[in-house]
Amino acid sequence: MIQVNDLNKWFGEFHVLKSLNLSVKRGERIVICGPSGSGKSTFIRCINHLEAHQRGQIEVDGVELNEDLKNIEAIRREVGMVFQHFNLFPHLSVLENCLLAPIWVRKTPRKEAIDTAMHYLERVRIPEQADKYPGQLSGGQQQRVAIARALCMQPKIMLFDEPTSALDPEMIKEVLDVMIELAGSGMTMLCVTHEMGFAKTVADRVIFMDGGEIVEEAPPSTFFSNPTQPRTQAFLKQIL
Ligand code: ADP
Ligand code: MG
Repeated sequence: MIQVNDLNKWFGEFHVLKSLNLSVKRGERIVICGPSGSGKSTFIRCINHLEAHQRGQIEVDGVELNEDLKNIEAIRREVGMVFQHFNLFPHLSVLENCLLAPIWVRKTPRKEAIDTAMHYLERVRIPEQADKYPGQLSGGQQQRVAIARALCMQPKIMLFDEPTSALDPEMIKEVLDVMIELAGSGMTMLCVTHEMGFAKTVADRVIFMDGGEIVEEAPPSTFFSNPTQPRTQAFLKQIL
């Protein structure tokens, strides 16, 4: 589903991503962790071209990401993204947030878009909030709306960028539970998170990034019990 070869990116002179390689199969769940500033967000933002890269290849479901707008649009249609700060439209109701892209981008008829939106709002267990505005919801509820909104486009891949980092502790579980259920449904997922319990339960592979490089990549069983790289060992000592 995702093939990344020799991905390099610079912000001006700053070499932020250094020759990253990654191959993700359909249905695989990958967790990316690493210290702040290591390039995790930049990496996953490159996959749906929220950031442009300068060297190397990214291919998503057989489509190469280059400057061709057709390809960029094709890839964005297949890739849903959930951010740390939810990024819901505050002036639209929960339901309207979920209808916007399907109606305006996908040209889905309104009636059908509503059915799909309600289906996903039920799946994230907040159908009763459909007519409220984001500001009336808790952080955990807003993040579940953001997940439902992304799912309404029926993506093949979901990218998560620290989806629980901005949440109060008591709300983290309700969001992780939704993500665990999504993983169980066979969704291909790339999650930047420091929720190591989630990584152990759900991830097929854990990737550790530091200084713009992929330092280590292993299944969670080996990653947590037998990390081979000193930088990984030091990081795990800090967070576990
Ligand atoms: P992480 O998500 O791992 O915390 P980021 O991908 O956000 O790391 O950032 C990696 C590095 O790139 C950091 O040093 C950050 O300051 C820098 N950076 C991120 N975005 C930009 C930008 N738009 N312009 C310049 N530098 C940036
Ligand atoms: Mg980040």
